[in-house]
Amino acid sequence: MRTLITGGAGFIGSHLTETLLAAGERVTVLDDLSTGRWENLAAVADHPGLRLVRGSVLDADLVDRLVLGADTVYHLAAAVGAFTIRDRTLDSLRTNLHGTEHVVAAAHRYDVRLLLASTSEIYGKNDRVGLREDDDRIIGSPTKSRWSYSEAKAIDETLVTAYGRAGLRSVTVRLFNTVGPRQTGRYGMVVPRFVGQALTGVPLTVYGTGDQIRCFCHVADVAGTLPALLAHRDAIGGVFNLGSAEQVTIGGLAERVLALTGSHSTIDRIPYQVAYGDGYEDMMRRVPDCRRARELVGFVPSRDLDAILRDVIDEHRATPLEDRMLTTS
Ligand code: UDP
Repeated sequence: MRTLITGGAGFIGSHLTETLLAAGERVTVLDDLSTGRWENLAAVADHPGLRLVRGSVLDADLVDRLVLGADTVYHLAAAVGAFTIRDRTLDSLRTNLHGTEHVVAAAHRYDVRLLLASTSEIYGKNDRVGLREDDDRIIGSPTKSRWSYSEAKAIDETLVTAYGRAGLRSVTVRLFNTVGPRQTGRYGMVVPRFVGQALTGVPLTVYGTGDQIRCFCHVADVAGTLPALLAHRDAIGGVFNLGSAEQVTIGGLAERVLALTGSHSTIDRIPYQVAYGDGYEDMMRRVPDCRRARELVGFVPSRDLDAILRDVIDEHRATPLEDRMLTTS
């Protein structure tokens, strides 16, 4: 099998690349290294089945050529992270709309099976406990650029659905908060930020009241499930939530990081508008129901939050300080 992974040098993409190489596939990684890093693939850098291509999904000719040479495509390339969306809104929209269109159109053109990495942001402010794939999107006004990521990803899903009617074989996965080794806090993700802050003894930056709820899933569980879904014929045309259902408040997360690291950092509560700019709206609760993926391919997260945090803390302790430097907000 020849596989193309867009965004394969990113956090989730690098774990998926390792998984597929270990399964004997030949993998081409396309990455523009905007948020990805070749270092993420250091463990497999010399693997004979791996080919690295530095380039953008905005380059339609390049995408066309790479998709033509593949049997399956995992489209993970995207502008991600709340800080990225805040600081580079227009570029993010371009990548997440036009980049995806190039990949999806090429997969359709050459009849290559496609996995689209979508997001729990799709559900917006819908805070039902146990969000199901057919639940409504409840999002804020387009005057608030905070929603632009959700908007773009919803259009990506709509595009895939429309191409599906025209014959494209695809699977859409909605990733809930995915964490683990190699995730950086530079672009906003809370777990590596809190762990980095705790280990360097600076205050943990809790945004808003800290009462907002998230569920964190280990990246290894996600990376192992994507190929199973794409290979399953009953998954084709489907949409699947992937995430954990173990709820934690962000304030509670900060306390747990402090306890597990033994850090004496304090906790700062920072208003949303200071962190993200005017008009930011957070999702107060985001809890998936993953029964679809469980029933089809047996998806069950294998690690609880403490085990995940220990894994991230161990990685941060083993990483040079400069790699942990965080942008501020
Ligand atoms: N958050 C926080 N401090 C930080 C970074 C994030 O309190 O330094 C909050 C953020 O406002 C959100 C939650 O943590 O409520 C998860 O943020 P993240 O960006 O990791 O993922 P999201 O769930 O927003 O996609």
